[in-house]
Amino acid sequence: MTSALSPAMDVLNRVFGYPDFRGSQRDIIEHVIGGGDALVLMPTGGGKSLCYQIPALVRPGTGVVISPLIALMQDQVDALRTLGVRAGFLNSTQDRSERQVVEAEFVNGELDLLYVAPEGLGVANTQRLLDRGKISLFAIDEAHCVSQWGHDFRPDYLGLSMLHERWPDVPRIALTATATSATRTEIATRLQLTDARHFTQSFDRPNIQYRIAPKNEPRKQLLDLLRSEHPGDSGIVYCLSRASVDKTAEFLAQNGIPALPYHAGLDSRVRAANQSRFLREDGLVMVATIAFGMGIDKPDVRFVAHLDLPKSVEGYYQETGRAGRDGQPSTAWLAYGLQDVVQQRKMIESSDGDAAHRRNASQHLDAMLALCETVTCRRAQLLAYFGQRDEAGSCGNCDTCLAPPESWDGTVPAQKLLSTVLRLQRERGQKFGAGQSIDILLGKQTDKVQQFRHDELKVFGIGADLRDQEWRGVVRQLLAAGYLAVEGEYGTLVLTETSAEVLRGGVKVMMRREAPQQRVRTPRTRA
Ligand code: ADP
Ligand code: ZN
Repeated sequence: MTSALSPAMDVLNRVFGYPDFRGSQRDIIEHVIGGGDALVLMPTGGGKSLCYQIPALVRPGTGVVISPLIALMQDQVDALRTLGVRAGFLNSTQDRSERQVVEAEFVNGELDLLYVAPEGLGVANTQRLLDRGKISLFAIDEAHCVSQWGHDFRPDYLGLSMLHERWPDVPRIALTATATSATRTEIATRLQLTDARHFTQSFDRPNIQYRIAPKNEPRKQLLDLLRSEHPGDSGIVYCLSRASVDKTAEFLAQNGIPALPYHAGLDSRVRAANQSRFLREDGLVMVATIAFGMGIDKPDVRFVAHLDLPKSVEGYYQETGRAGRDGQPSTAWLAYGLQDVVQQRKMIESSDGDAAHRRNASQHLDAMLALCETVTCRRAQLLAYFGQRDEAGSCGNCDTCLAPPESWDGTVPAQKLLSTVLRLQRERGQKFGAGQSIDILLGKQTDKVQQFRHDELKVFGIGADLRDQEWRGVVRQLLAAGYLAVEGEYGTLVLTETSAEVLRGGVKVMMRREAPQQRVRTPRTRA
């Protein structure tokens, strides 16, 4: 240790009670104390808050923190106050007199940190207020919310470029846990952070074991997982719809696992109560839509399970990242099936956005599907997605590393399936979903087959060598690879520009063998 303690280290020890900085905290903090702008990309749990809190305490004036997490402001401010930090917040939950107290404190220079909601900054009153005090820095938390292509877009964030115009001499630090290099560039552009130094910390979460399983009976699969590997553990289960949140929570409770629901359809008091029970009690399972979790800091979440496919790799990473913040072994488990692909494509197609939005959503989904279907290390694929390819390799702590999936040459089945779709369309002018195409291939005499006389098609029964489940895997993987597409309300299968290559025999289609209910042992420590 050097003789004179730096002011930053002094605050870290004295105020926060931590002996040392983590990762790139020291560099970031020194840079901002020196008046520089910064764009910080650090995974969830990496310790972003100190990166602006310490400079705010060291620099003269008040650090203004822009955060979309209004529901957490009170907690954040309370936590800081117990440490003796003079903190306050301004947001729409306050009444006039509460606001006035905070405003006076700010103007009188009695605040180290002031949290404000992004919509507040657009208001002329707030801007005039800020002019009356001394600002030490602006911290823009959850900065990816400025990205129109991201999954957390907040229109109010677009207005934050005015910070630089109105207060050009105040250093700004933007922080996020989720950004590809493209999003990073977008953040820098939209926030006018052109001269900001970029700090990027590794996204690897070595204690999280990534597993993606074929979805058969998702609730039962989940129950097996919890009983065999996570008895008594705290965890989060993500579902796409409110209805499935309610059903799953009920199902777990009926099976003796203490579970609580969380989604936007619940009364806000119930939601708040469930959230605070989850944070305070041990061994609760929170079953939730993705409305739950942003900013949640519970260190001992032992598993995050997804019963439905996340819309993007960013979302998947952020949601699974809520597991194992304490560094202990944790599981990220996802059940994924053909229906997920059909449903998500449908949602994209029927979304309100324009063509560019839909194309973007599609690309996000494709990346997620590629992660699901990969036969190589999940972690390597995940890190590569975040531009950290060099750190990739084989991790030894994901399902594909622990039980390498067999791959098989699926070219012929792929051709059979694609020709079924082709014949239905060419010979009959019909489009059907995956179920009917598979029934035709299997040669099943269902009512629907007879009604449409599909047993007269040349392809009828030519796929009896595979099981229904295997055919669903074939369809899924063709969708993931883009050799097949789904469209419309009923999720009908259609050919794509690249289907012809497969039909012509121009490409070999390697597929992941479906191990029914593949079980992976959890190593308690990682080599
Ligand atoms: P993030 O916002 O990046 O998700 P936080 O700022 O909430 O992460 O920090 C996560 C946890 O790590 C918090 O409990 C915080 O107190 C703790 N922490 C941050 N920096 C340090 C440090 N240098 N030493 C010890 N604990 C730290
Ligand atoms: Zn791996």
